[in-house]
Amino acid sequence: MKYFIPKFKPKDECGVYGVYNHERAANLTALGLHALQHRGQDSAGIVTSNKEKFFAHRGMGQVSDVFSNKEIISKLIGKISIGHNRYGTTGESALKNVQPLFSEINLGGVAIAHNGNLTNTNQLKEKLIKDGAIFQSTSDTEVILHLISTSKGSLIERLIYAIQSIKGAFSLVLLTNDSLIGIRDPFGIRPLVLGKLNDSYILSSESCGLDIVGANLVRDIEPGEIVIIKNNNIESIKPFKKTFLKPCLFEYIYFSRPDSILEGRNVYDIRKKIGHQLASENVGDREIIDIVIPIPDSGNASALGYADEINRPFELGIIRNHYTGRTFIEDSVSVRNLSVKLKHNPNISSFKNKNVALIDDSIVRGTTSIKIVEMLRNCGVKKIHMRIASPPVKYPCFYGIDTPTKEELLASKFTISQIKDYIGVDSLKFVTLDGVYKALGHKEGRKKEKPMFTDHYFSGDYPVKLIDQDAGVFPSQLPLLIEPTK
Ligand code: AMP
Repeated sequence: MKYFIPKFKPKDECGVYGVYNHERAANLTALGLHALQHRGQDSAGIVTSNKEKFFAHRGMGQVSDVFSNKEIISKLIGKISIGHNRYGTTGESALKNVQPLFSEINLGGVAIAHNGNLTNTNQLKEKLIKDGAIFQSTSDTEVILHLISTSKGSLIERLIYAIQSIKGAFSLVLLTNDSLIGIRDPFGIRPLVLGKLNDSYILSSESCGLDIVGANLVRDIEPGEIVIIKNNNIESIKPFKKTFLKPCLFEYIYFSRPDSILEGRNVYDIRKKIGHQLASENVGDREIIDIVIPIPDSGNASALGYADEINRPFELGIIRNHYTGRTFIEDSVSVRNLSVKLKHNPNISSFKNKNVALIDDSIVRGTTSIKIVEMLRNCGVKKIHMRIASPPVKYPCFYGIDTPTKEELLASKFTISQIKDYIGVDSLKFVTLDGVYKALGHKEGRKKEKPMFTDHYFSGDYPVKLIDQDAGVFPSQLPLLIEPTK
């Protein structure tokens, strides 16, 4: 069998949201998605139910583009609603991947929104296609819908079958005519929280999506848990024999919003603690640093912690224009390079003739660091000591954070000293992986046996088997069309 390889690359860092029992469920969902916009800016969608009918609106762009006027939202009738923000699919076929996906199965309509990435999509898809399934999209999420529709029993029995068949990272929200359902994978890799607003229930990727509608954070959905909200009641089912909470470390380092609370930890607070840790691992820094400058916004919180620890002033030496997208959104290298310049401008008087500690949360391809370093050099900085609030990113992520291939990851090809020369700084230090665990409250650092977080991008330790990848199929190569066997 031969595959046509699609030119675009499906990526799945997304935001999901759900509302149960609210007169303005669609409004609340649009607000929630707006708060979760950082998790995906490529497309957005909402599906609602008024118990008799389903209503949907989806489109390319940010939430404010897709839901640009009141009429659109007013047509999304019903007291139950789910929504989704998607990150980074480009090309002509993108619209068909916009979530929530909706399907009429023999039990009625089901809509689904997914954050995360499955690692056995191809394996399952091949079998489903052989059995006659017709796929409308290239997204791994559609596999889940097919597993639900082709299995037997009640919706819950089918859901259990589906989530026990899929492997990888999944935080899901589903909507039926009369229920809202939330599910988290057995390691709880991607976040999902439950909130309450008077008599309404809310599901959100992060707690910042609860704050915006005035809902209270009740708890995180547990790893491997299915939460069914129906008849104004909430029921919890735990169908997996073994679960082990191992949330994604990168949510704390970069991906989640700093004001979110994940598993009881405020993300901003953790980032500051990582900054403290970074400084305490480099005790000589207070002798060589005059001021501390973050690469905004991703380096802000850790730079505050670092500056506090070495007792040097924190300065906004680089000003960020918030009206441009993230560097990773752009697909071509040239556009990405340009977008760094669009995003950052030096605030020269704050660092001229000074020895600077330049702080960022991570180095991936090195694009941001190179541009910023060049910018500071051109403006008369004395010395640049780059300090990174995460360990070197050496391994790609297949669980839903968009990292490039291993070949493109700077730290997988180069030593730290080579990276230092490549980005042109006077010194370069990364916080240790043990240090990040300490900042997260694990005083003894990272335990080799059963580490408490999913941290493969630093350690190479992938907690969920990479079934498709081990078979030589990577997310960017998932089949779009299958040629008939000759
Ligand atoms: P790079 O410029 O390729 O070295 O990427 C590092 C920069 O991108 C840092 O400023 C990070 O804050 C940011 N970053 C790290 N991981 C991601 C990601 N998965 N998506 C978008 N941006 C990221």
